[in-house]
Amino acid sequence: MKDNVMRLLPSMTDWSLRKKIVSVIMLGSVVCLLLTLCVLIVSSVNNRHKNSLLQLSSLADILAENAQAALVFSDENEAKRLLKSLQGHHEIDAGWIITEEDKVLAAWDRLGKIGTPPGDYKVTSRQLRDNYWKRSALLYLPVTRDKEHIGYVVLQADFTERWHSQLTVLQQGLIGTGVALLIVFLLATRLQFVISRPLKELADTARTIARNKTYSLRVTQRTRDEIGDLVMAFNEMLGEIQERDAHLSLHRDRLEDEVKRRTAELRTILENTPDTIARYGPDCRRIYVNPAFAAATEGGAAALLGSTPTECPGGASAGHYEALIKQVLASGQDARFELNWIGIRGEAICSHIRLTAEHDSSGKVISVLSVGRDITELNHSRISLNEANKQLEAMNDMLQSLASFDSLTQLPNRRLLLDRLKQALASCTRSGHYGAIMFIDLDNFKTLNDTLGHDIGDILLQQVAKRLESCVREGDTVARLGGDEFVVMLNELSHQAIEAAAQTEVVGNKILALLNQPYQLASHFYQNTPSIGATLFGNHQQSIEELLKQADIAMYQAKKSGRNALRFFDPQMQERINAHASLEDSLRNALVKHEFQLYYQIQVGSSNRPLGAEALIRWMHPERGLISPIEFIPLAEETGLILPLGQWVLETACAQLKCWQQNPLTSELVLAVNVSAKQFRQDDFVAQVKAVIQRHAIDPKLLKLELTESLLLETINETIATMNDLNELGVQFSLDDFGTGYSSLQYLKQLPLDQLKIDQSFVRDLASDSSDKAIVRTIVAMANSLSLEVIAEGVETEEQRAHLLNKGCTHYQGYLFSKPLPIEQFEALLTAKQT
Ligand code: C2E
Ligand code: MG
Ligand code: MG
Repeated sequence: MKDNVMRLLPSMTDWSLRKKIVSVIMLGSVVCLLLTLCVLIVSSVNNRHKNSLLQLSSLADILAENAQAALVFSDENEAKRLLKSLQGHHEIDAGWIITEEDKVLAAWDRLGKIGTPPGDYKVTSRQLRDNYWKRSALLYLPVTRDKEHIGYVVLQADFTERWHSQLTVLQQGLIGTGVALLIVFLLATRLQFVISRPLKELADTARTIARNKTYSLRVTQRTRDEIGDLVMAFNEMLGEIQERDAHLSLHRDRLEDEVKRRTAELRTILENTPDTIARYGPDCRRIYVNPAFAAATEGGAAALLGSTPTECPGGASAGHYEALIKQVLASGQDARFELNWIGIRGEAICSHIRLTAEHDSSGKVISVLSVGRDITELNHSRISLNEANKQLEAMNDMLQSLASFDSLTQLPNRRLLLDRLKQALASCTRSGHYGAIMFIDLDNFKTLNDTLGHDIGDILLQQVAKRLESCVREGDTVARLGGDEFVVMLNELSHQAIEAAAQTEVVGNKILALLNQPYQLASHFYQNTPSIGATLFGNHQQSIEELLKQADIAMYQAKKSGRNALRFFDPQMQERINAHASLEDSLRNALVKHEFQLYYQIQVGSSNRPLGAEALIRWMHPERGLISPIEFIPLAEETGLILPLGQWVLETACAQLKCWQQNPLTSELVLAVNVSAKQFRQDDFVAQVKAVIQRHAIDPKLLKLELTESLLLETINETIATMNDLNELGVQFSLDDFGTGYSSLQYLKQLPLDQLKIDQSFVRDLASDSSDKAIVRTIVAMANSLSLEVIAEGVETEEQRAHLLNKGCTHYQGYLFSKPLPIEQFEALLTAKQT
């Protein structure tokens, strides 16, 4: 079905408008009229049939009513009379009146063939047997009197006549429909004529205009409807086109004139320009050459036209030239280059060639235009200009170097030094780092000059410069101020003045050592010493002159001290450096000389019961007496001496634990040992501890290592690993000086700690400072939640202890119980406490 419609539709699209209009209207009308006719006929037939049945039914009722008497008295005549009265009813064909005893009392048939009634008439109630299609009906009706059956009435009807009259109506209807369709057809033809004629006229006019360009033609507007509107718009459009056409013709004329004029101009230019111009076709052969090009080439235009650059004029660069033309033809991208070729008189010519792609209207490259300009002269002058520029630059460099560098040693001179010093001061102010300058003067340089001559003196200065440069880092500066005066500027030293001074001292000592090495000056073997004055610069505002003066003064002090020395400008700094240096020296020897001793400070529980002790190192200096670990532990860490020192402490502490284990009085004491960061981070620290424990055969549980927060946090993952290994051995851990670092609960949770040690700074003012109280309370709560023990250090008074107890801290260490003591006194203290 769908396919059929689809097959029909394209053919309909090809139909003329006329055919379409008439077909659609006719089809619509036929369908409408036929539908209406059918509906009318069907309903009228139905109604008539129903009416006939109704009439039949009421006729039977009347007959039954009148037949009662005839049935009661078996009066056949009366019965016949009653049936005869049916004759006036055309549709009744036959009728019967039958007694209860099945005797046909009377019968009547329109055709006279009286028989028995068809079918079973013995019914108890009215029965209508309607045969619609045979156009007949039978009605059986029982006759009753006083509710008693006395007989039957049967009527037979035939409606054929009515059907015939109905068919006549249908015929008339069809004739009417035909007439109506004829009228519709006439109207549709008229309608299509009204619509399609002006459209056809429009199409014919448009075709004529397109053919003859007669924009003055117009279509006559016959109606005022949409088609009339279309005709009007078409005419307006024609008017517009006519106007534009007139305008365009005028413009075209002008353009043609312009093109002619330009072409003439262009020809004049092309023929008179000294530039060589050529056009190349898609096969790279010339299709045009201007007179200048023709004149410059042997054979002229005749030789050039139709040939490629390699064919004519040829030459070394022709291949490259031809390749470039092909490239422009292929890519459409313009190109420029310089072409060296030999002119007609054998002269070398350099042409600047510009190749331009020429496109057709579709954008395809169809040819290449080549314009060449002779730049032989320009090239000559350009080369000399370049050379002049280079010379100028070299001179500039020379002047620059003369202005900033010392010509003898090639070191920065005073000017450049001041410049760099200025930058260094600004950078130090920003970063907070210290910097240093060292003023270096060669001792007895004048004597060398006087005896061996200035040339030899110069060689010494050059060698000194080299040696100084080898002593500093890349960002530092070595400068020569003049004569035998050098300055070394060190950048980015420590943030701490003392550390920065120590770093300067290291470099200064290196310089001293290196400049003391013998020199080979031409054939002379020579030894020299320097005097060095140093000063630091940092974020405080010193002027550059002031700094140089300070370094100069320090240098004179070095000279005064007997030369070949390094002196700091700041006397205090000098003193500290001296002390530092001597302390370092003696520290190195102290271990060998057994100058260290371990002291033990007792740790107690809430009822003063001794729980253990902390081992604290002491240095018994032969001259300075007892030196506090606070003074030498940082130095030992800086120099790395902490490693053998720490090892010694561990060894001594474990030996002590071994002794305690053998005495029931002390066998349960735990000994805490401080471990420094450097010591803890040794790769074999775990192995060291294990070896010591095994060597002394002690219970590892009695050894407690004290670590600080800063140590833990620096490399947390490695720290945890090391702690876990030690923990597996059975060793305990205490977190020393707790509260002064930045431990977060997050970290604390991960560490296998046994104890937190509240720093003494919180214990000191516990009685008066409410924030200290809060801190202690928090630490105790934190320790409880992490199931850690808490001990307070630096407990000096009963009051402090009471406060600590009140906050839940039950382990203590401090002067209240005892100062750190040598082992004998400590053991005496233990005995005293036991008794
Ligand atoms: P630390 O581990 O916090 O030790 C506690 C310090 O507080 C000790 O100072 C101790 O004498 C002192 N102290 C104890 N009770 C009181 C008190 O009631 N009041 C006051 N004011 N101070 C008290 P010391 O012995 O001078 O040690 C200072 C630091 O040196 C130690 O602090 C520790 O960090 C380090 N240290 C000591 N011995 C060693 C060691 O063998 N190895 C390492 N690496 N460091 C050590
Ligand atoms: Mg400690
Ligand atoms: Mg401490």
